[in-house]
Amino acid sequence: MQTITTAAALRTVLSNQSGSVAFVPTMGALHDGHMALIAAAVASHDIVVASIFVNPTQFNESADLDAYPRTPEADADLLKAHGCNVLYLPEVKDVYPEGTGKSLTSTLGFGSLTARMEGANRPGHFDGVAQVVSRLLEIVQPDTLVMGQKDYQQVAVVRSMISQLGLRVELLVVPTVREVSGLAMSSRNRRLSIPETVAAAAINRHLSAVVAGLAAGWPARELEGMAFREIGTHPLLRPEYIEICDGDTLLPYQDGAPVREIVVATAVHCGPVRLIDNRLFAPSLAEEVNP
Ligand code: AMP
Repeated sequence: MQTITTAAALRTVLSNQSGSVAFVPTMGALHDGHMALIAAAVASHDIVVASIFVNPTQFNESADLDAYPRTPEADADLLKAHGCNVLYLPEVKDVYPEGTGKSLTSTLGFGSLTARMEGANRPGHFDGVAQVVSRLLEIVQPDTLVMGQKDYQQVAVVRSMISQLGLRVELLVVPTVREVSGLAMSSRNRRLSIPETVAAAAINRHLSAVVAGLAAGWPARELEGMAFREIGTHPLLRPEYIEICDGDTLLPYQDGAPVREIVVATAVHCGPVRLIDNRLFAPSLAEEVNP
C-alpha cells in the first residue's frame, strides 16, 4: 500500500494505473465497519483508495473536532492488511488550497433531506460533508464511492450532491457493522467507558423494538414517542431524536404510505459522545432491510 499526502502526487499515481477505482473516504480511527467498506471495494474494483481526513468543516462543535480519535499508524496497518492499495492522508491545506470558506457545493440545495435529524441538530454539518466529498471526488476521480448505511442521511445528501453536480460516480452503500452487543461500530465508541459501552448497546435494542412495532402496524408517531421516552429512562443515555422517516425524502413517515423504505434513525448522547444509528424497514415486504 502506498501512502500519499498530496493531491498532486495522488493524481500522478492514479493516472499511471489502469482498472476500476473504488474510493472509501474516512476520518480514521478505523474499525471493522470501515473494513467492511474496504472489503466491498476490494471485491469489485482493481484499485482501492482510502482517505483519512478529519474534515474541520463538518464539525459544528470545535470540542468534538479536537476530541476526535486519531490513530494513523494502526489505521495504515489495518488498511494494508485488508487490501487497500492507496492511502491518501492529506493536510487541511491540500484538501482546501483556497481555504475552507470556498466550496463547490455552496449553490446546492438539499431540501427535505437536511431538514431533520442530523441536518436540524448539527447546523452546517452537511454543507461540510458535501464540500469535502465533492473535493475528494475531484481529487480521486473514482468509478465508485463506497459509504456506510450507518450514516444514512449522509448517503442521501451525497447521492443528491452527485446528481446535482452531474458527477459520473457510482455510490455503493454497505450495511452497518455492529458489535456482538448490537452497538453500531463507530470511531467515537473508543471514548466510552465500560458502563457507557454497555448502556449504548440499548440503542439498537430500542431501534429493534420500533422495527417490530412497524412490522405490527403500530402508528409511527407513537413508536417514536415510546422509544424516545424509554431510551431517556436509562441513566447513562440522553436521546436527542428518534425519527421514523420515508427513506427517500427523509420526511416523517405517514402510516400506510406506499414508501420504498422506512428509516428509523436516532441520535443519543452517552457519556462524552453523541452516537447515531438507524435501521431500515421495507413496508411492501413487511421486512427489515439489512437486519
Ligand atoms: P467516518 O470515518 O466515521 O467518517 O466513516 C467513514 C465511512 O465509514 C462512512 O461512509 C461511514 O458511514 C462508514 N461507517 C462508519 N461506521 C460504520 C459501521 N459501523 N458500519 C458500516 N459503515 C460504517
